[in-house]
Amino acid sequence: MSPYPKAEHATRVLVLNSGSSSLKYQLLDMRDGSRLAAGLVERIGEKTSRLVHTAPTGADEGRRERTDRIADHAKALEAVADELAHDELGLDSPELAAIGHRVVHGGLKFSEPVVVDDGVLAEIERLVPVAPLHNPANLIGIRTARALRPDLPQVAVFDTAFHRTMPEHAARYAIDTATADAHRIRRYGFHGTSHAYVSRRTAELLGKDPSEVNVIVLHLGNGASASAVAGGRCVDTSMGLTPLEGLVMGTRSGDIDPAVTFHLRRVAGMSVDEIDELLNKKSGLVGLCGDNDMREIRRRIDAGDERARLAFSIYIHRLKKYIGAYSAVLGRVDAVAFTAGVGENAAEVREAAVAGLEVFGLAVDAQRNAVRSGEPRIISPDGARTVVAVVPTDEELEIARQTFALVGEDRTAIV
Ligand code: AMP
Repeated sequence: MSPYPKAEHATRVLVLNSGSSSLKYQLLDMRDGSRLAAGLVERIGEKTSRLVHTAPTGADEGRRERTDRIADHAKALEAVADELAHDELGLDSPELAAIGHRVVHGGLKFSEPVVVDDGVLAEIERLVPVAPLHNPANLIGIRTARALRPDLPQVAVFDTAFHRTMPEHAARYAIDTATADAHRIRRYGFHGTSHAYVSRRTAELLGKDPSEVNVIVLHLGNGASASAVAGGRCVDTSMGLTPLEGLVMGTRSGDIDPAVTFHLRRVAGMSVDEIDELLNKKSGLVGLCGDNDMREIRRRIDAGDERARLAFSIYIHRLKKYIGAYSAVLGRVDAVAFTAGVGENAAEVREAAVAGLEVFGLAVDAQRNAVRSGEPRIISPDGARTVVAVVPTDEELEIARQTFALVGEDRTAIV
């Protein structure tokens, strides 16, 4: 018997996003999607650990910070549990329906969120070779939460899941099939939770059912990816085996001739790890101009900085190519939706990405594009053939929604 009494209406979901040295969390109420608490533990295991916790209705004017050493993820989750308990939102509350975990790689197996059991854990572990940075950290988060609340449903929500509907011709690389299959080399795609959320919200903005609309989603954050979504199903996306493929990103190169890597190995004498680091951490905007923050790049361009201007142009050129490519993949595009840090905030990026694409029915209204807001909004002129929109993403809400849809007792409460 569970030591925790079942509430008549357990409507809260705790969302955990466990990184290699960090733990992000949000506690949401699924009756209205409101955020009861949110926070971040960083530098777990280091002397300079830090926990920042906010709870709008909580004690201490809603915000607390801790800076003592937090030794490991178990201690981090205990610390989070203490903070939540302090605000009377503890993990032992009967109102907590489930814990939803962000898991980066679900491979071929997971096309939907799943309730975690030993088999699921083993499968996530089996995928570590294709997600060596992320899946181990995600696993630690799940195991820790399970140990703390073994009776509570733990749900894994995969970043790759939304892209599992991609047809084989979009998912396969044109390499030897036996080699590809032996090593599970194919295009998986990432940021799936965001693409799922934003494509659905875009349909809502258009007053349509997701099954009726074709959307290109441009998730432009520090990591960046595009997706082509036809009638609510992903048919192509720009990230591949790893998040390195596709758009120019903050620190990643995106698409590159694979022979560049042979050249770096044979001619430049770099090791595989060095090449990995170069393409993932020292390329993209940071490699091109030394900055990966779009605000700083725009400031430098305004001051006449040529390197920053070229970096911006390369970033936009790639973006346009993907808009064109996905217009061809979809045939009919009802909307292009910009999201994430750059997509939601950088009006210049949106304007430049769409400039000259009138042939695709795309245009941006300058006044609408300049509006700053946290709400989904249309920025194309009235009557445009294709709607251009800004649709703020909310991956935590989407994880909570999918978690609750799977295990919530009172599904009528779902937002
Ligand atoms: P994300 O990964 O979605 O958190 O996005 C982070 C990125 O968004 C930063 O690296 C910036 O380049 C960009 N960003 C955030 N705020 C702004 C802003 N106000 N204007 C332009 N870019 C922004």
